[in-house]
Amino acid sequence: MKAWVLHGVNDLRLEEIPVPELKAGEVLVEVRAAGICGSDIPRIYKTGTYSFPTIPGHEFSGEVVKVGPEADGSWQGKRVGVFPLIPCKTCAPCRKMMYEMCRNYSYLGSRQNGGFAEYAAVPAENLLELPASITFEEAAMLEPMAVAVHALRRLSPRPEETVAVCGLGTIGMLLIMFLRDAGAKNILAIGNKEFQKYMLSKQHITGENFCDSSRENAVQWLMDKTGGRGADVFFECVGKNETVLQAIDASAPRGRVCLAGNPYSGMTLDKNTYWKILRNQLTVIGTWNSSFTHTSDDDWNYILKRLALGRIHPTDIITHRFSLEQIKCGLDIMYRKKDNYIKIIETSVGSNNFVEV
Ligand SMILES: [Zn+2]
Ligand SMILES: [Zn+2]
Repeated sequence: MKAWVLHGVNDLRLEEIPVPELKAGEVLVEVRAAGICGSDIPRIYKTGTYSFPTIPGHEFSGEVVKVGPEADGSWQGKRVGVFPLIPCKTCAPCRKMMYEMCRNYSYLGSRQNGGFAEYAAVPAENLLELPASITFEEAAMLEPMAVAVHALRRLSPRPEETVAVCGLGTIGMLLIMFLRDAGAKNILAIGNKEFQKYMLSKQHITGENFCDSSRENAVQWLMDKTGGRGADVFFECVGKNETVLQAIDASAPRGRVCLAGNPYSGMTLDKNTYWKILRNQLTVIGTWNSSFTHTSDDDWNYILKRLALGRIHPTDIITHRFSLEQIKCGLDIMYRKKDNYIKIIETSVGSNNFVEV
């Protein structure tokens, strides 16, 4: 099969390799769509991954073409989404079915081979069957959608509350989609690129509710938009010290701040900002990954229900589509930041299909 194999830092090669042998409990998924995650960029270009060689890609969907030993034969031929985290099932969080906090997990696309290939071996327990109405592209976005939904459900804003979302990459944009679906009426979006305004317009967020922080002071803008009060709920989806401080500074009394961005560096709090946490009695919480427990209430099933009802259109944020052979072009766009992009997807159908924004 064709696969992108990471042999070392900045050494990703398209190779012809054997189709994976299936271990107990695994199935073979023919990959039909795979998203590039922001975290794939440092993994491939800067820091590397846990061991080499590894096939990256943890956001993918496809069709089960073979069922391995001890796996349920009824998966054969099914269209599936894939939860990439493989929990140990024995640690304390696992015993409470909080697999996202597993202390000893494996992960498709970083700790073991993932989806930037024609086929991937996946534990049957990590599969989610797709209803016919859900496309492979949508299903390849289940993982980032689940991350956004998990953050949303950590704070569950009430419809009348003012919600700020800072950071308009894939997670921020998806969060806005699910906030709107949940009824949030006052969403204020903070980004740093003009084209994000256009992408937001597709989510029915007007230019008035968008702050380009490269031109404007985001805290001042938020204060002006809220009559000096600040945001009731603030989702920080960047992970920079500067934006974390903005989140605290621009929160209303008794406001809630959700830290969702992976950190770029260490974080420090100046004294005045620290005072604001105390005096405004803020709640500052973290969010991590998503819940996948095969119960109707987990994050992944929450999304499936909304997709099936046609209430969420995640593919609106796809800006570029590439074939498997061209995936390096997508990675390069994200690495060099030379193009406006939100979500970049590899699909078996799409060739070099740029979406102009
Ligand atoms: Zn990811
Ligand atoms: Zn565990």
